[in-house]
Amino acid sequence: MNELLLKAVDDRVDDLVTLTAELIRFPTINPPGEAYRPCAEYVGARLKKRGFEVEFIRAEGTPGDTDRYPRVNVVARFAGRSPGACVHFNSHIDVVEAGDGWSLDPFAGIVRGGKVYGRGACDMKGGLASSIIATEAFMEVFPDFPGAIEISGTVDEESGGFGGVAHLAKLGYFSKPKVDHVIIPEPLNKDRICLGHRGVWWAEIETKGEIAHGSMPFLGDNAVRHMGAVLRAFEDELFPALDRKVTRMPVVPDGAKRSTMNINSVHGGQTEDFRPGLPSPNVPDSCRLTIDRRFLLEEDLGTVKSEVTDILDRLKRERKKFDYEIRDLMEVLPLMTERDAPVVKAVAQGIMEIFDREPDYVISPGTYDQKHIARIGHIYDCIAYGPGILDLAHRPDEWVGISDMVESAKVMAIGLNVLLRGTGAR
Ligand SMILES: [Zn+2]
Repeated sequence: MNELLLKAVDDRVDDLVTLTAELIRFPTINPPGEAYRPCAEYVGARLKKRGFEVEFIRAEGTPGDTDRYPRVNVVARFAGRSPGACVHFNSHIDVVEAGDGWSLDPFAGIVRGGKVYGRGACDMKGGLASSIIATEAFMEVFPDFPGAIEISGTVDEESGGFGGVAHLAKLGYFSKPKVDHVIIPEPLNKDRICLGHRGVWWAEIETKGEIAHGSMPFLGDNAVRHMGAVLRAFEDELFPALDRKVTRMPVVPDGAKRSTMNINSVHGGQTEDFRPGLPSPNVPDSCRLTIDRRFLLEEDLGTVKSEVTDILDRLKRERKKFDYEIRDLMEVLPLMTERDAPVVKAVAQGIMEIFDREPDYVISPGTYDQKHIARIGHIYDCIAYGPGILDLAHRPDEWVGISDMVESAKVMAIGLNVLLRGTGAR
C-alpha cells in the first residue's frame, strides 16, 4: 500500500511547487510580523476545502501584537472515521528579513532549475507545503484512517514563539489527549531527524561605577574597567572551562557539541549621540554586557548560572569598589526526545524506505518551538523533520529543492501511516 501512498505524493508535485511559491509570496517578515493574517487565512482556506475544521487564533497581548500587526495563527484538524492517535504538523509561517545580497526578488516565489527560491523557502514554507501534501496524499489513499491529523501555521517562531506555539500551548492546543505526536518540518535536511536542542540562558550583567571628570578619573570609578576585569576572568577561566564540556547529545555542527557562550553586546559610557560633535569627558558609571550561554543536557541551569556569578562574586571580594547586577533575559532547558519514541521510529521508517539507509539523528545548536510543546504542552513525542537544507536558512537566495520536498513529503506520509494505522502498516 505504500506504493499507492508514494504515487499519491508524486501525483501532487505541481501542487506542492505552486503551494510553496504562493506561501513565499506572503512577505511574513518578523519583526514586525507582516502579512500574518492573509498567510494564515490562505493555509486555512486550503485545508477547509479538504474538510478540515479550521480555527484562527490571534495571540492578543503577546509581544508585538497590534491591530496593524496581529499575531494570527491557524490550526486545522481533520478527525478520521474512528478514534485513535492525533499527529500534528506544526510549521511557523514567519520569516526573517530578506537582508542584502539577493540576485532575485525574495518574495516572488520564483521556480527555477528544480528549486523554489525566496525568503522562507527553506525555513520553512517548503516544510509546511510538504506536510500539507503528505497529509492530503495520505487522506486520499486511506480515507478510513483512525485518529486525527492536525496542521498548524504559527507565528513569531523567529522571535521566541510567544505569540505562536507558546500561546497555543497555553490554550491547550498542544496537549494530550488532543495531540499525541508532533512533527515540526524545520529545515534539518531530508534524511535527518532532529530530536531536540541545547539549553539557553541569556543574561545581562551590569557593572557599576561613579561618574567624574575624565581629566581626574581617580575621583570617579570606571565601570568599563570593571567590566574589563569580568571579561578577562571569562577569557582566563570560563571559556576554557566551557570548551572542556562535551555532550553525548548528537549536536550539529560539531563545534556545538561543547558548551558555548557568546558575548552578544557590550555598552558602556556615553552613547554615540554626540556625533558629529565630540564626546564630553566622563568616567562611565555603568557598563552592560549581554551573554548568550548555550548549555548541554548534562548541565543544569543552576550550575550554568553559578559559573558566572561565582566569578562576579569573587571579583566583588577582590576588586576595590567592584559591584554588579545580573538580570535573566531568557531561559530554555535542553531537550532530547529519545530514539525509541513513536514519532522518531515512524519517521525513521519513512527515511529508511525512501533513502534506503538509517537516518542521522541530530540535535539543533539553537532552539525552536519544540521547547514550548514540551514545557507548556507536556508533549515529549516531538521531533523536527523537514526538507530544507539547514545551512540555507536566513541566507540570501534561500531556496528549497523540489525533489527534496517530494522525498520529505513521502517520508511524512509513511510516518503518518505508521503512527495512525499501526507499526509497519502497509
Ligand atoms: Zn525555522
